[in-house]
Amino acid sequence: MFKKTFLILLLSSLLLQASILHFKKYEKTGTQKGDTLLVIGGIHGNEPGGYFAPSILIQHYKITKGNLIIIPNLNFDSDIRNKRGIYKDMNRKFAYISKKDPDYKIIQDIKKIILSPKVDLVLNLHDGHGFYRPKWENVIFNPKAWGQALIIDQMSIKTPKYNDLGKICKTVANKINNSIFKKKHIFGVKNTKTKFRDEQMKLSLTYFAITHNKPALAIETSKNITDLTKKVYYQLLTIEEFMKVMGIKYKRDFDLNERNIRRLLREYGSLTINNRFKINLNRVKNYIGFVPLKRKFNKFDFTHPLGAVIRYKNIYQVMIGNKKITRLKSEYFKLSDRHPLLKIKTDHTIIDITDKLNVGIKKNFMITAPKNVRVNVIGYTSKRYKNEANIWIKLKDIDKRYSLYKDKRAFRVEFYDDKNRFIKTVLVEIQ
Ligand SMILES: [Zn+2]
Repeated sequence: MFKKTFLILLLSSLLLQASILHFKKYEKTGTQKGDTLLVIGGIHGNEPGGYFAPSILIQHYKITKGNLIIIPNLNFDSDIRNKRGIYKDMNRKFAYISKKDPDYKIIQDIKKIILSPKVDLVLNLHDGHGFYRPKWENVIFNPKAWGQALIIDQMSIKTPKYNDLGKICKTVANKINNSIFKKKHIFGVKNTKTKFRDEQMKLSLTYFAITHNKPALAIETSKNITDLTKKVYYQLLTIEEFMKVMGIKYKRDFDLNERNIRRLLREYGSLTINNRFKINLNRVKNYIGFVPLKRKFNKFDFTHPLGAVIRYKNIYQVMIGNKKITRLKSEYFKLSDRHPLLKIKTDHTIIDITDKLNVGIKKNFMITAPKNVRVNVIGYTSKRYKNEANIWIKLKDIDKRYSLYKDKRAFRVEFYDDKNRFIKTVLVEIQ
């Protein structure tokens, strides 16, 4: 009993240090000057519409007039675990937070951004329960529900701009309601009258903003809409309407419809590990063994704003938001600081791969490397050679099960120095 309590205390004190991941901040500035909208996503980790919508905003929108500041993943540790708040509800920490709270730094940093003089309006994105209706219909559709609503703390605030929150939200809701999939998805405006009524909401992000004279509100799509695509569509539609209200001009590289959002939500980009191994996350298999990593301080670079890794001992779960993309099983090595001259011979051509992490080939190939470099073609086993440099590798001799990708056409060629330190992986892709 004592032991168990001790362990829990130990674990919670470890947890209490600080969040593991911090949020990212993106800024888009138009060539024409104008107002600034701050979009905050991912405060609640089990509300994926709230973080995938800003990730599309970051990747596929261009601002031509005014400015957009986007935080896609305020509660990143919780987002990638699909939990509301692994350090408890972050949206209840804005009135007071202990310095010992793991979210302390995140809250301090986001408050600074919210209060920066340049920010004219703040949107906080959520997926809420049920469908908000001004009058009680049933347990799903009622005034206590949060879904499909713009949530304001009060009708108006005393600021030079965007002070008439109630009216602005009505206008925006009317616009969105012209483009909904189903009648029951209709958006409303919910005033929580926080100052007089809602003790819990007094601790929230938007109320913090309001009480510091910064116009702010929340967009809530419904948790009862289970299709992520539709929730992201509604979030983007709403954000666009607010940009229009603010005179912010934008372009996007796709038409805003369900099919395109579904497609964009499946684009995971790439992951580069320690600048030595690059993986296309759209094609990768769901498990990769023997990945050369350092024991600590590996650098995982994602092109996707919601990319992160959760480590369980020697398994590294690769996440894009709350989506599990693949698992890497590590094989620990030291990293080499050598930068040898490397080439691949194939089909009468020689390609320099000294500075490459992938190369396309059509036929059998041969890797050339200096004598003190060991080459290992994963999936190829030679009885004669320990070092697979300077021998012709026939494609038919590579075991296709070792392909990095589901399409069975990409193989890892790994390079090690004479002290068995890892140099890099070059992905050989059969075209
Ligand atoms: Zn929420």
